[in-house]
Amino acid sequence: LVERMRPFTSTIFTEISRLAVETGAINLGQGFPDTDGPASLLADAAANITERGLNQYPSGPGVPALREAVAAHQQRWYGLDVDPADVVVTTGATEAIAATLLGLCGPGDEVVAFEPAYDSYAAAVALAGATLRTVPLLPPDFGFDDDALAGAFSDRTRVVLVNTPHNPTGAVLTRDQLTRVGELAVAHDAVVVADEVYEHMVFDDARHVPMASLPGLADRTLTISSAGKTFSVTGWKVGWVHGPPELVAAPRAVKQFLTFHGGAPLQPAVAHALALGDDFYTGLTADLARKRDLLSAGLRAAGFDVLTPRGTYFVVADPRPLGFDDGVDLAWKLPGLCGVAAVPVSVFCPSPDAARAYRPFVRFAFCKRDDVLENAAGRLAGLR
Ligand code: PMP
Ligand code: GLN
Repeated sequence: LVERMRPFTSTIFTEISRLAVETGAINLGQGFPDTDGPASLLADAAANITERGLNQYPSGPGVPALREAVAAHQQRWYGLDVDPADVVVTTGATEAIAATLLGLCGPGDEVVAFEPAYDSYAAAVALAGATLRTVPLLPPDFGFDDDALAGAFSDRTRVVLVNTPHNPTGAVLTRDQLTRVGELAVAHDAVVVADEVYEHMVFDDARHVPMASLPGLADRTLTISSAGKTFSVTGWKVGWVHGPPELVAAPRAVKQFLTFHGGAPLQPAVAHALALGDDFYTGLTADLARKRDLLSAGLRAAGFDVLTPRGTYFVVADPRPLGFDDGVDLAWKLPGLCGVAAVPVSVFCPSPDAARAYRPFVRFAFCKRDDVLENAAGRLAGLR
């Protein structure tokens, strides 16, 4: 294995999901729903396989119907004008992130990202041979220090990677916060890569603000999202990236030689789902807000402090009131102690300082059936 990939031989999701299977624990570690997406989406995909024969290579950058549906979705929800020709369909958001960074960055380039960060960011930056510069989102409110943010930028900054709503903290970055990021991107002529996979999972009075919707940023932003999250089909791995032609050329070129293309029968089904009525989208948010409250109440009753998320389907919990001050240690013990699996948050922190700040915390996913969440809450109550 090449030197730069040696820190990335496994992932926390692989490890904790394996532990959950071995111990029979309820897996609230890796984030995936336990019910499938909308019935019409599933039926459409099935018909694409068995009736319409869409089983050979699809068109390179994505089937036209899906690229048109992504553009229409961006117009419908955010008023963004996207040319379907500037949408590239990818094998999940994960490939979009990797292809984008590989296409834009190389040795000597720097990528600014907040931490904790979804684990593929550091790996993709390493694959590109670029250097990661991180800025901590600090608990309990997951804000950032403006000087720390400004200090992370330099004349080598090529990309600033922004994830909102944010995994693993559940933070939804505000318009004001995102504007400050955008100003630095402009000042340093950096490309904004916006990972917005949780765009439809935002609660209470929080609102998702796409980076591309901020004044002056559309021209320098690549926006990434995924059907896996919005339509509860994480295993389909249908994602996309869009942006101005000169920028989207980067992931499009790289993607050709990573996978070329994929998901032929799935892509038109996702196009269909993106056009579902508002009821689908408001129902998704309402369901997840209820699940968040259900699991949060269970965690509090079990003795955790809960850092209430404003978005995503993750909740960060502080186990110190229960006498645990090391989330890594706790995540490995939790399945044996009470039959529930969670992931430690500090493993998403590339820098030692942030890892220390997040050391106690664990993250639970609440994209599960209510009865599963109630069962998990009952098991967690046994920790006391
Ligand atoms: N970005 C973030 C922030 C995520 O949480 C995930 C899902 N784990 C991804 C990207 C990857 O999405 P996909 O499953 O579509 O590759
Ligand atoms: N996005 C999901 C999570 O953060 C799953 C990640 C994965 O399996 N790579 O839990």
